[in-house]
Amino acid sequence: LTFQDMNVSRPLMKGLSSMNFEKPTPIQAATIPVALLGKDICACAVTGSGKTVAFMLPILERLLYRPKQAAVTRVLVLVPTRELAVQVHTVSRQLAHHTNIEIQLSAGGLDLKAQEAALRRGPDVVIATPGRLIDHLHNSPNFNLNNIEILVLDEADRMLDEYFAEQMKEVIRLCSRNRQTMLFSATMTDEIERLNTDVALGLRQEFI
Ligand code: AMP
Repeated sequence: LTFQDMNVSRPLMKGLSSMNFEKPTPIQAATIPVALLGKDICACAVTGSGKTVAFMLPILERLLYRPKQAAVTRVLVLVPTRELAVQVHTVSRQLAHHTNIEIQLSAGGLDLKAQEAALRRGPDVVIATPGRLIDHLHNSPNFNLNNIEILVLDEADRMLDEYFAEQMKEVIRLCSRNRQTMLFSATMTDEIERLNTDVALGLRQEFI
């Protein structure tokens, strides 16, 4: 299977070739076609497998083909750490370089006021750590998750310790119900399965 076989659009093909990604990794070949259909996904994938492109490519395809009706945030990618947020942001920006899709970072350790101003403008995609995102949701009246069409939980198994799990569930509950959910985890533990069946998440899942 090639990226062409998946009908990847021209601007994103350009993004892929600028990064020298010629053919999909196994996780990309398994998830992208399913995610493009709008199905929920629960995938077991470690760092280094190419999971970022696996979720970001279908996200960008959707945003390209269903242009926005208003300046609202339509995609949320939740990650456990600031470092991962920065890494996902960098790859996403490169992939989206030939589009006008806006991708914003919301993570601790970065300027709060600048982030607040950026979120108020309704960027298409927000890549966030749960704690900082909750700060913004509590403090910025014009930023909410009512219009989220796709929610990604990246490295979900690293967001399951007690304190983190509460924050993550709060964010999930604030997302629009009418959405696609993609969960990526290095391990498939009972806890992940429970999170999956949790009312808060409600995956109509496809296991990969
Ligand atoms: P990730 O699992 O998303 O952290 O990606 C791991 C590494 O694989 C990153 O350094 C990416 O740049 C690289 N990568 C992702 N997709 C591909 C691909 N299709 N071909 C070659 N390298 C890739």
